[in-house]
Amino acid sequence: MRLLVFNAGSSSLKFGVFDMPADPGLGSARQVLKGSLDRFSPDGCDQKLNEVSSRAPFRDLHEATRAVPDLLSEAGVGQIDAIGHRIAHGGTEFAQATELTEATIAKIRDLIPLAPLHNPANLDAVEQARGVWPDLPQWAVFDTSFHFETPARATTYAVPEAWRKAGLRRFGFHGTSHKYVAHRAAEALGERLRDLRVISLHLGNGASACAIARGLSIDSSMGMTPLEGLVMGTRSGDVDPGLFGFLHRQMGLSIPEIEATLYQESGLQALAGSSDMREVEARAAQGDSDAQLAINIYAYRARKYIGAYAAAMGGLDALVFTGGIGENSPSMRRRICDGLEFMGLKLDHDRNLAVTLADRAAPQIQAYGARVAVLVTETAEQLMIAREVAEALRAPAPVPRQIPIAVSARHVHLSRAAVDALFGPGYELHPDKALRQKGHWAARERVTLHGPKGSIEHVAILAPLRDRTQIEISRTDSFALGIDAPVRQSGDLDGTPEIRLTGPNGHFDTDGLIIAARHIHMNSADAERAGLADGARVSVALDTGRGLTFGDVLVRVSPKAFTEMHIDTDEANAAGISCAVEGEICDEAVMHAPADAQSV
Ligand code: ADP
Repeated sequence: MRLLVFNAGSSSLKFGVFDMPADPGLGSARQVLKGSLDRFSPDGCDQKLNEVSSRAPFRDLHEATRAVPDLLSEAGVGQIDAIGHRIAHGGTEFAQATELTEATIAKIRDLIPLAPLHNPANLDAVEQARGVWPDLPQWAVFDTSFHFETPARATTYAVPEAWRKAGLRRFGFHGTSHKYVAHRAAEALGERLRDLRVISLHLGNGASACAIARGLSIDSSMGMTPLEGLVMGTRSGDVDPGLFGFLHRQMGLSIPEIEATLYQESGLQALAGSSDMREVEARAAQGDSDAQLAINIYAYRARKYIGAYAAAMGGLDALVFTGGIGENSPSMRRRICDGLEFMGLKLDHDRNLAVTLADRAAPQIQAYGARVAVLVTETAEQLMIAREVAEALRAPAPVPRQIPIAVSARHVHLSRAAVDALFGPGYELHPDKALRQKGHWAARERVTLHGPKGSIEHVAILAPLRDRTQIEISRTDSFALGIDAPVRQSGDLDGTPEIRLTGPNGHFDTDGLIIAARHIHMNSADAERAGLADGARVSVALDTGRGLTFGDVLVRVSPKAFTEMHIDTDEANAAGISCAVEGEICDEAVMHAPADAQSV
């Protein structure tokens, strides 16, 4: 299988062609072509094809992407089978490689506010490539996916709930790179990644640190956007959020102005007048004090993150440097590691200076006897993207998980006390109809509900009796009764409104009035097949006349349940359900989440 991989930025397009073997392993893929088109300007751009540099006439990303077919055929690259795209931000939506369709592209577009510099450039390349290769499958691999299961303690900002509900949380980026270098480090050390605590430092134009414990990203220095964390080429990294108010009041700057400056005119660029570390190091060597300070700040910030992440993981086994600076600057590696001997991290200066990285080498540069291994390796994001796309293409298509939909009309579950009051002491209800959940039935008897605005007669009673009376109505019913009922899961009745029920023997006043939250009953065998745990929340798409997807549907697993989804009449009407239908479970918001990872 031959794959073309694109990594598009606002001023560069990197691409690679990989031959993926039938049984993919990191080492067994073969890179057929490595290309980059860089520094677009009205005069063209720099071109590098398989390490051969030249100038090319392409002025922007559009022209560059459209030129790739010619560059491939000039290089003798034949038939391509699929295309993989690096996409910076996948939000909470994308946990893995995803095929690019109109629907997924629209979702990625919705995430632009979270990565305003990156997602638009990524999508631009997607659009161009779809124009050039309309018949090839195109896949997205997200920088955020590796951090998808980062615990809530590391992803949650201490801000009001309304902001968090609006989507404010930490995501982390460079995931493909961090994942690759952590695996490569474990391989080079001859250890299993799940036995290691690793810090990965990706130091390129963008830079981030990642704490990887037992193979999982448990924290990363970039946050909601790729702006947080380390000092970068033109990005500030961590700043006090109080600066927004200060700069607005003192300098009259607007939020967009401040934001643009933090992204594009900060970092090394602001401190030393160049975003390019080679240039900053050259100036520092000539005695430029701004450049020297910039280097100090850069190294100090990275060192602080190493200390923090070692603490977060309860220790450290390996530190890995990657990215243009991490791979090529021995002096920056030395500065970052200086003073960390107290935690068993010490460089061997000769090994540090002698690093060569050809052929995926991952040399160790720690001092002999140092407790923490320090490695350097070239990141291989494109290879990882190719690998994930190849795996996704080889994976059998997911089995659609169909679920029957049952529409619950209004009904009550009565307690013994309620039956006594409504039908007479000791009265036994008469079974009329068995329900699909084993042991449950509808009674022949009916009750009337009374509210301040009106009454509803002939309301069904579902048995067996319960400890607490529960009345389940729809929102429309609640308007008719004049009582504002909350949406609740069954049994969650504390603080629910009171209502009067009447029967042939008298009335019964009780709380317990709810609009039942939609839910799925699922038996254990079905749950296992569907890969769902009790408490999972899923979306269910209905392909009915009015086609609707219900989000946030709670899955309740019990050994003998009859598997079906319960919705109320309002929901059924909204979906245009007129006969027996099935829905398709189409995603999981929470699956097997660690106890403190509820918001992931
Ligand atoms: P990107 O994040 O755009 O992929 P790279 O990973 O290519 O960026 O990293 C670019 C950075 O690496 C630039 O700051 C560049 O100056 C720096 N860099 C590349 N080679 C060296 C070197 N020999 N010494 C110091 N810095 C280097």
